[in-house]
Amino acid sequence: DIKIKVKGLSKVYQGRNGDVVALNNVDLEIKQNEFVCIVGPSGCGKSTLLNIVAGLEKKTSGSVLADDKEIEGPGEGRGVVFQQYALFPWKTVLKNVEFGLKLKGIDPSSRRKQAMEYLELVGLKDFANSYPKELSGGMKQRVAIARAFAAEPDVLLMDEPFGALDAQTRAQLQEELLNIWENKKKTCFFITHDVEEAVLLAQRVVIMSARPGRIKEIIDVDIPYP
Ligand code: ADP
Ligand code: ADP
Repeated sequence: DIKIKVKGLSKVYQGRNGDVVALNNVDLEIKQNEFVCIVGPSGCGKSTLLNIVAGLEKKTSGSVLADDKEIEGPGEGRGVVFQQYALFPWKTVLKNVEFGLKLKGIDPSSRRKQAMEYLELVGLKDFANSYPKELSGGMKQRVAIARAFAAEPDVLLMDEPFGALDAQTRAQLQEELLNIWENKKKTCFFITHDVEEAVLLAQRVVIMSARPGRIKEIIDVDIPYP
């Protein structure tokens, strides 16, 4: 089952010094429940690709389908996690995680229950009533992950979510993410510039080349040991 289908996708930004080709005729299919990592040098178009799939950025040409439907804008079926947590500073941890559920129109008691379940999954149940500024970097990133997962999107789009963390916290969150992915069966699309992280997490690693925003190679890394 193909969950996300990108065909002939191009993106050209109008820069001050002329056009910038960020993506040039990119094709990519992501299967249901697959974990795909994208690696490549800075500026190769990784974020642009993810943002277009998220519906946060407009494409120049080509087609981008989720469940065979053209992606027109941000959708409930797709949750996003960025490197900078983007939590609401004036809301408690619990309210931050509940936010997406509120948008979906889920009633207060169910949404509280669901949010707490995900806070427990990332080990922050005891911090439900804390504010983001009271938490460490790793804890804030866990809240951002809980928030994205709590809304139960089919597809999780993650743009270097662990990039700002120290090595130990990153290793811990990688493990937590894999646990959630295995237990909840999500389709994951994950950007990193760390090849080791990509190989650890993904079933397939997509390598993008510096210019002009193309996919160079797609590698199967989920090869069982003989
Ligand atoms: P990556 O995520 O791989 O670092 P990006 O997708 O952020 O790459 O950027 C791809 C290219 O598009 C880069 O050359 C970048 O400078 C350019 N770019 C990204 N966003 C904009 C923008 N809003 N306006 C102009 N150029 C942009
Ligand atoms: P950072 O990326 O800032 O290093 P960590 O997630 O490693 O973030 O957390 C830093 C500190 O926050 C830890 O040393 C620990 O004391 C505290 N902390 C993190 N998670 C929890 C938790 N679930 N319960 C209690 N304390 C925690």
